Amino acid sequence: MKLSQFNRFIIFNRHHFIFNSKTRCLALLDEEGIELLEKIKNNPNFISDTQTYKSMLDGGIIVGNDFSEIAEVSESYMQFKKGSNKSAFGFVVLPTLNCIYDCPYCYEDKKPHQMSTDTATCVEKFIINSIENEATVAITWYGGEPLMATHIIDKISETVINHCDATNKKYDSFIVTNGYLIEDATLEFFKRNRISGCQITLDGAEETHNTKRFLKTNKTGTFKKTISGILKVLSINMSLSIRINVDKNNLNELNELLYFLKKEGIGTAKISLG
Ligand code: SF4
Repeated sequence: MKLSQFNRFIIFNRHHFIFNSKTRCLALLDEEGIELLEKIKNNPNFISDTQTYKSMLDGGIIVGNDFSEIAEVSESYMQFKKGSNKSAFGFVVLPTLNCIYDCPYCYEDKKPHQMSTDTATCVEKFIINSIENEATVAITWYGGEPLMATHIIDKISETVINHCDATNKKYDSFIVTNGYLIEDATLEFFKRNRISGCQITLDGAEETHNTKRFLKTNKTGTFKKTISGILKVLSINMSLSIRINVDKNNLNELNELLYFLKKEGIGTAKISLG
């Protein structure tokens, strides 16, 4: 095994982090992790059966001695170019601009209306007319909070999925949500609408998150409910990306948040910093 050439080591507040710019894996290193990396660096034949070793392998932080990361990047670039020339088509649909949160930095209009069913029908026609020559169709549901307009997502998804199935096109979709409204019934909603991945944002550890992401109606913080939504998503093996908004006020609690996520069993989600 060898260390990935895409690793970046960062020391912040005496904590050691490692970031892999190819896989976008970010990990907080404890003593065991630091020692392990040192052993691999000094001995290409070193292997281990520990969870830390497996996680580093999964995150692309360590790779096989004969593995060429540059060749893999080149190959995926060529595949992307080939695919983007002829077959993938993506849409971003905002079924509502409304939201139950009142984040101070939000630029959305947050008017209480939702997309009308007439407009949804126009969106369906637009998508179907646009994908005649496409092999793969993807929709990203965005808002506001898209889960406040599930009936619109149901309607558009049903029409587009039926069309894609009938014409042999691959369909997939993704949702950007604040996570608050994810309940058990939402998991069924994700499945029937082929929503295979989602992005949920945290603004720091609990206290900080709650000062920025609170309910519009009574200013209640949303951290606990967001974590509950994240756990529900993970329970059905949906692809999950957690975006952590970082600024100078919460940078020093990043390690606390990462520890918390690991403790809650959320360490397998993709984490990105925004
Ligand atoms: S969760 Fe998103 S859409 Fe809702 S208020 Fe916050 S930033 Fe705006």
